[in-house]
Amino acid sequence: YDRNRAIPPDFVEQFQIAQSEAQSAWIAARKANDFASFQPHLEKIVEFARRLAEYYGYEDHPYDALLEDYEPGMTCKQLRAIIEPLKRDLVPFLRKLAAAGTPPDRSLLDGSFDQDALRHLSRSALEFVQYDFEAGALDDVAHPFTATIGPGDVRITNRYPTDSPIPSLLGAMHEGGHALYNQGFPEELYMLGLAGGSSNGIHESQSRMMENQVGRSRAFWQFFQPVLAEHFPQFASGSPEALYRAVNVVEPSLIRVEADEVTYNLHIMLRFEIEAGLIEGSIAVADLPALWNQAMKDYLGIVPPNDAQGVLQDVHWSMGYIGYFPSYMLGNLYAAQMLPKIRKDLPALDADIRRGDTNPLLGWLRENVHRHGATYQPNELIERITGHALDPAHFVRYVTEKYSDIYGL
Ligand code: ZN
Repeated sequence: YDRNRAIPPDFVEQFQIAQSEAQSAWIAARKANDFASFQPHLEKIVEFARRLAEYYGYEDHPYDALLEDYEPGMTCKQLRAIIEPLKRDLVPFLRKLAAAGTPPDRSLLDGSFDQDALRHLSRSALEFVQYDFEAGALDDVAHPFTATIGPGDVRITNRYPTDSPIPSLLGAMHEGGHALYNQGFPEELYMLGLAGGSSNGIHESQSRMMENQVGRSRAFWQFFQPVLAEHFPQFASGSPEALYRAVNVVEPSLIRVEADEVTYNLHIMLRFEIEAGLIEGSIAVADLPALWNQAMKDYLGIVPPNDAQGVLQDVHWSMGYIGYFPSYMLGNLYAAQMLPKIRKDLPALDADIRRGDTNPLLGWLRENVHRHGATYQPNELIERITGHALDPAHFVRYVTEKYSDIYGL
């Protein structure tokens, strides 16, 4: 209420108009690979975002005021402290994987897959995670999302590229994680305005947990290989281990949404560093293509061949969403910090998943995360659950152990 009251109505109107214009300009610029045509629009958006931060107010850094919409309580300073050790460990680990590791063979996932069978496969995955179809629906869309209509109605959307069964399968698990969170809010929270996630980052922890910690785990594939083979008989003869390895290939890619577990956060870091620089005024919009490409080279070792696959790839900035990106990274970090606590509380977690039993895991998530809705801020929630503040060391340990094993380091 206070934040909304802090913004003058005519500012909201003008910002909305600028966003609307910037979105169409972004679509055209990306299509034409023409950053220059988008530049004046982004300059306007940044100017509005800086004014917005002033209206909201902040103690330390104007970016903090914008973060508050997505990750209440998080600050630019905290993010830098989280990112430094991540960068220090992940960048050399990625190089080591590429130089000394044996990459898994993912060719077994190649082929042409029937869309209707993929749809049914997604349903099987959602049944496995115990998404409640009686209180929702699964529908087709170009860019998947989860929508909560109200208590008892949380809908999922998915897309079905036909060249591999994995993107739609793990996409369903991802949206399923979001939907389970929303299906787990007690009804009374709707009456209190608290029937939402604690933050975008905590919400993303629930989706990434189902997509990665579960969907990219060895135990999951031991259970799920026969399920996959029911829909696609060509997988009946393969080994669960080969499938587990095939879904865990690490490869620096140009596009964030296609990134694996090791490289994903590196994509987010470069966006955060650019955003913080734009808002504090140390970076000019005109310099973004060069800065983007340099950061891609430093962090991921690859340079986009054009701006369409580089600085123009995400819709967020054109929509005025500055401060949103860190949520994606925080989701990975929160999930990785919850996992050791889950394993401690549920020592049979892997054995349960191997049997296809997600009841203990869902029960744990309901009890520790879902039932609280937005009652606690994310820093309070993660501390209540794990006993300490967010610590990126959990994520580093999770990926280095998992991928050193897969890559035979
Ligand atoms: Zn998500």
